[in-house]
Amino acid sequence: MELKGKKISVIGMVRSGTGAAKLIKKYGGIPFVSDAAESNQINVYAEILSKVNISFEKGQHSEKVYDCDLMVVSPGVPSDSEVIKRALSKGIKVISEIELAWNFCKGKVVAITGTNGKTTTTALCAHVFNACGTKTYAAGNIGLAFSEIAADVKDNEIVSLEVSSFQLDMIDKFKPDIAMILNITPDHLNRYQNKIENYAASKMRIFMNQEESDSLIINKDSALILEYMPQAQSRTCYFSLSEPQITGCYLSGNKIIYNENASLTFSCDVEDLSIRGEHNIANAMAVITASKIFHFDNDSIRNGLSTFKGVEHRLEFVRELGGVTYINDSKATNVDSVWYALRSFDVPLFLILGGQDKGNDYFKIKDLVIEKVKKIYAIGASAEKIFNFFHKDVKVEIASGLEAAIISASKEARSGDVVLLSPACASFDMFENFEHRGQVFKESVNRL
Ligand code: ADP
Repeated sequence: MELKGKKISVIGMVRSGTGAAKLIKKYGGIPFVSDAAESNQINVYAEILSKVNISFEKGQHSEKVYDCDLMVVSPGVPSDSEVIKRALSKGIKVISEIELAWNFCKGKVVAITGTNGKTTTTALCAHVFNACGTKTYAAGNIGLAFSEIAADVKDNEIVSLEVSSFQLDMIDKFKPDIAMILNITPDHLNRYQNKIENYAASKMRIFMNQEESDSLIINKDSALILEYMPQAQSRTCYFSLSEPQITGCYLSGNKIIYNENASLTFSCDVEDLSIRGEHNIANAMAVITASKIFHFDNDSIRNGLSTFKGVEHRLEFVRELGGVTYINDSKATNVDSVWYALRSFDVPLFLILGGQDKGNDYFKIKDLVIEKVKKIYAIGASAEKIFNFFHKDVKVEIASGLEAAIISASKEARSGDVVLLSPACASFDMFENFEHRGQVFKESVNRL
């Protein structure tokens, strides 16, 4: 991709936008960054851009954004937003930030998408590959913009890249060496005309440019994902929690097995994984499959799997007090992740649920809640909906806030019980984001 002398507008001025602008400048392009919002966070990035003499505007997208040869869009900007629609109507080429960065990356790319588990798997993948002796960056939505590092990655290094459907909506030639689709369940459907097919089709773009020499790792247990496989040109590798694979990774009792043409080439015990829960076995299987594609050695893979520390706010252990364990799963912003969280415990649970509802249908977790949860503490804007759905089957208390819920739960829980924040909802009714909610949870728990 030739950027020299080209005027390039970058939409969005936080991490990825700023990274993209710096990359464009490095390769001789003329970036102009524009963000419709104004906030303290944006001011921080505005300062960074000023220091490196990159021009920008904030609080608006002025006509100047359309005076360009190319438009690069940050991950947070939906593909149906006004600024993109207008640019397209003017014939401007619009690409996502990962498309830009990918063009300048010499290393191999493992791109990871799915509804749930992207961040965990991206971090685990980088950790295991590093343990196997290959320098691997964890980048993308996980927090480090791909553009920020793309130019530094050497050809014998790897990028483990978390990609969202928004970024995939605006790729052009992006072609990962390995693509992973972890799972697809209803979430963010509001951005896809409430059609799961639209959301799924957007995720499938991850392999649209792949060739035979590339690999595609997918969840064999997802009938929805399997429907799209005839479209893939790449070598497809499967992982499954439920059935043996001739070539691929699967769970057999307590063992995780990787077969190559029906012969076993890797195995480990579920207990070797440092992260708990069936969903994390699935995430680990995807990473094992990628490790085997790169021919990493088995002892190093096992070592990586057992030393991974997990990711903050995902079933994160916070504290044990009086025999009661407190777990922060603030990132569980949909019902599906709560389903997996509940399945990860076999002790009585005090569950904190609630926040901003995304059209949740709690039916999927009803039986599990009845089986495992002693009491629900409902918080936030959806507290009443949660009360109405569950109160006939389980004790439900509407708490005035997160801290009140924690205090109540700490008084009722007995030694051996777990107090779990796994809210199934977005956080924006009470907190800045899920990280803030998790932080408040941890601080309150540590004050007990
Ligand atoms: P993402 O980046 O896709 O949002 P995370 O790794 O941040 O995924 O995990 C988000 C939530 O989903 C956490 O609550 C976690 O426990 C749950 N989760 C993680 N992996 C999976 C999976 N493979 N299937 C279902 N839920 C999962």
